[in-house]
Amino acid sequence: MALTGFWIRQVQWPLMEVLKENRTRPYMRELQAAQHLSREELASRQREKLRSLLDHAVSHVPAYMANADVWREYRDAPERFLQKLPPLDKTRFRRNPDAYLSRGIRTDKLIPNRTGGSTGEPTRFYLDRPAVEHYEAARWLGLSWHGIRIGDPCVMLWGSPLELNRQQARTYRWKERWLKNRLLLSAYELDERSLDTQLQRIRRFRPAYLYGYASALYTLAQMMLRRRITLGIPLKAVVSTAESLHEHQRQAIAAAFEAPVVNEYGARDGGIIAYQCPAGNMHAFSENSYLEVVDPLTHIPVFPGVPGALLVTDLHNRAMPRLRYQLGDIVALSAKTCPCGISFPLLETIDGREDDMFISQHGHFVHGHYFNHIVRNLESFRTFQIVQHEPQRLSLRLVKEPDRFLPADEAKLLAGIRSALGEVSVQVSYVDHIPPASSGKTRYAIRECPLTSVQPPE
Ligand SMILES: [Zn+2]
Repeated sequence: MALTGFWIRQVQWPLMEVLKENRTRPYMRELQAAQHLSREELASRQREKLRSLLDHAVSHVPAYMANADVWREYRDAPERFLQKLPPLDKTRFRRNPDAYLSRGIRTDKLIPNRTGGSTGEPTRFYLDRPAVEHYEAARWLGLSWHGIRIGDPCVMLWGSPLELNRQQARTYRWKERWLKNRLLLSAYELDERSLDTQLQRIRRFRPAYLYGYASALYTLAQMMLRRRITLGIPLKAVVSTAESLHEHQRQAIAAAFEAPVVNEYGARDGGIIAYQCPAGNMHAFSENSYLEVVDPLTHIPVFPGVPGALLVTDLHNRAMPRLRYQLGDIVALSAKTCPCGISFPLLETIDGREDDMFISQHGHFVHGHYFNHIVRNLESFRTFQIVQHEPQRLSLRLVKEPDRFLPADEAKLLAGIRSALGEVSVQVSYVDHIPPASSGKTRYAIRECPLTSVQPPE
């Protein structure tokens, strides 16, 4: 593993830079240099980047071209100009995504992406390479705060790509193993009975760190704590991502793996937004995105310390700029400075995505993201919500995508659910929309029964 890491750092990455013009490491060095600048310097660099992005948006992006005259008036105060634009929520974006594509851009040169997002609404969008490489740079910088280097061995507790056939899956695993030094464990197939085997695989791989969904890491940690098993190898960190990390989860994960738990805050459609530092605070990468927090109803900016809807403006995606993109998360900014010495601004609270783990008829634990993964690959549904009332009884609410709906997709979705959970009963209903919970967020995978209510057969 150490040799693979050495190879990745010393040969593979430098080669990628020469042959593919990958700029992740140079961007990381820029971030590294910026992290100790003063607040004022950071703000002024961010303003310059924002100004340049807005220059581009009003002249090349159809959705923003009507604002060109107003922009000329406000060019000295780009933050104030932004406040004149309505927040871009997913529904509005999905109505006409092509309007956000820069004119003259060739989509075959871009990186297509899609997401279920925190609201469960599948959204399709494009990124360009500089945007993705800036996200990667931010992630590696955040990891470096905990002593983790590019190429260090990592065990990922992750969703496996369902759409791959056997050969593709084998190639994928090979690439992960030898080009990225990563071992994938499926967050869709955690299981009390295979716990020893899984832990043995982790020990053999000797990772420097673990990386996975908060709820999946927590489930694994709970199984270990219940059976008083430890991993027995020193980890630099356990990195939790993609969902809110609650304090009780953090404590259980830290206790089970005997390692610090690090929170990564990012979104498929928002990039790597913030990373936890060794002092325990969440630093936002102000070099990569401009963040605003507004009242969810009035859209008036709220003060630091007050939670509100997070709006993200990615400063680097020129291919498809989305200004004030509303991720669906509730966040509070902070005016405090951190004792760790990093000057990137802090987020005080993050109320992000909530996914539950589901339980199958065979005693497997299946991460809620599994269902999202299936729906994302069907064109028929705008959004969905699945609830496991009891281990064998579920309900599924679906919102149709009117122009793309195929009745056969319902059967595909049910087959996917049953292949993970076993022969469960699923009551399907079609609705116009799925109302958010009292917290203001829509959850799409909810389990109402206790996770231990099925005893796995011996
Ligand atoms: Zn800090």
